[in-house]
Amino acid sequence: MFLLGTQRINEAGHLEIGGCDTVELAEQYGTPLYVMDEAHIRHTMRTIKKAFQDLHSASDIIYASKAFTCLAIARIVAQEGLMLDVASAGELFTALRADFPVERIVFHGNNKSREELEMAVQCGIGRVVVDNENELSLLDEVAAANGVKQAISLRLTPAVDPHTHRYIQTGRVDTKFGMNIEGGGARRGVEKALQMQHLELRGLSCHIGSQILEADFFKLGATLMCEFLAEVKRDLGFTVQDLDVGGGLGIRYLPEHQPPSMQEYAATVVGAIKEQCVRLGLAVPHLEVEPGRALVGEAGVTLYRVGGIKRIPNIRNYVAVDGGMSDNPRPALYEARYSALNASHAQETERETVTISGKHCETDTLIEDISLAPLHTGDIVAVQSTGAYNHSMSSNYNRFRRPAVVLVNEGASEIIVERETLQDLLAHDVVPERLLV
Ligand SMILES: *Cc1c(COP(=O)(O)O)cnc(C)c1O
Repeated sequence: MFLLGTQRINEAGHLEIGGCDTVELAEQYGTPLYVMDEAHIRHTMRTIKKAFQDLHSASDIIYASKAFTCLAIARIVAQEGLMLDVASAGELFTALRADFPVERIVFHGNNKSREELEMAVQCGIGRVVVDNENELSLLDEVAAANGVKQAISLRLTPAVDPHTHRYIQTGRVDTKFGMNIEGGGARRGVEKALQMQHLELRGLSCHIGSQILEADFFKLGATLMCEFLAEVKRDLGFTVQDLDVGGGLGIRYLPEHQPPSMQEYAATVVGAIKEQCVRLGLAVPHLEVEPGRALVGEAGVTLYRVGGIKRIPNIRNYVAVDGGMSDNPRPALYEARYSALNASHAQETERETVTISGKHCETDTLIEDISLAPLHTGDIVAVQSTGAYNHSMSSNYNRFRRPAVVLVNEGASEIIVERETLQDLLAHDVVPERLLV
C-alpha cells in the first residue's frame, strides 16, 4: 500500500483525500466516484513548471487534455500558467468554454478534419501541430480562406521505442503518427511547410510514448530531435524557435513503480538538449514538454462499493464492485495494473488476496490478485492513480451511467462533472414513427 498527494488514514481508519473522508464522499455522492486531489494537481503543475524554468527560463509545460479534461480542470491548468494540448473539436471546445487563453492552446492529432482546422484557425489558436503533408495543404487552404497566417509546428517521429526497451533506428518508424526523421519524411515536411504562404513554421514536436519510467529514453528522443534541428539549420537555413519533446512521463500505479522526480525529468530533458545544442552549435530553443498522465494521474482515485464476494476455495476470491470496464477500460485494453486499498478499513493490518471485478457482462477484472485488508460487502475500495485516462476513456457500456467527478481540497468537496442520469442515456435515441404503432 502507498499513499499519494494529500492522502492519509484518518482517525476513523478511513482513507482521506484533500481533507475529505472517502467513505463519507461515497455516501454523499454515490459510487463509483472519481475523486481528484486539487492540492496535488496544483503542486505537481507548479513543481514541473519550476523544475524546467529553473534550468531553462524559456520553457513551457503543455498539459495534454486527453488525460482528463473538463471545464474545471481547464481552469486550473490556466490558473497554473500552463499551456494546453487539445486533440479534437471536443477538447478545443472545452478549453474555449473554460476561457483558456487561445494563444496558449496547441492542436494535435494525426487526422484533423477540415471542420476542426477551421475551428482552430477561427478561434485564433496558438499553434497547430501539423502531422503530415496532407494536413499542411489542408491547413494552408483553411488559413488562406480565413485570411490569417497560422503558426504551426510539425510532428516528427524520431526512431525511439521506449516500450521495447531498445533504441532502434527502425522501431518507431512503423507508426501512424508524424513525419519520420528516418527516410526523409520530416525533411520533406519542413521544406514544404516553409513554402506554404499562409503558414508560419515555428517549431518541431515529437512524442515518444507513454508511462515511461526511465528518464534516459527522453534523452534519446531529445538528442535525435536536436540532430534534426541542426540538419534543417545547415541545409535549409531554418532556425527552430520552439522544440516540443512531448509527454510520456510515467507515474506510480504499483508500489514498485519509481518514476523519476520532476527535477530528474527536467534535468534529463534540459541537460540533453543543452548538451546537444552546444555540440551542434545551436542556440537553445524555447522548450516545451507535454505531460498528461504525470500531472493528474496520481491525483485521482476511484471509489467503488463492494457488493458480492465469491470465494472459490484454493482458486480465487472474487470481490465485485459497482463499476468496471466502463469507468476504467485500461486493464482490459492494455492489461494495465492498478493498486488499491480498503478505504473503509485502511488501518487494518490483516491481509487477504482478492481479485477485484467489475459488474459488466463479461470478465472485467480491475485488479487481479491483490493483497488487501479483508473486504466486506458495503466496504469502499479506492483504486489508486486513476486520475488520467479513466474518466476520459470511460464509456456507457451496458448503458452504465458515467460516474461523477469530485474535486477535493482542504476538507471541502465539489462536483466538477455530474454523474450521468438514466435520462442522459436516452438523450440521443430516436424512435422512427413507424416503430411507435
Ligand atoms: C498522449 C500524448 C501526450 C501525453 O502523454 P502522457 O503519457 O499522458 O504524458 C502528449 N503529447 C502527445 C502528442 C500525445 O499524443
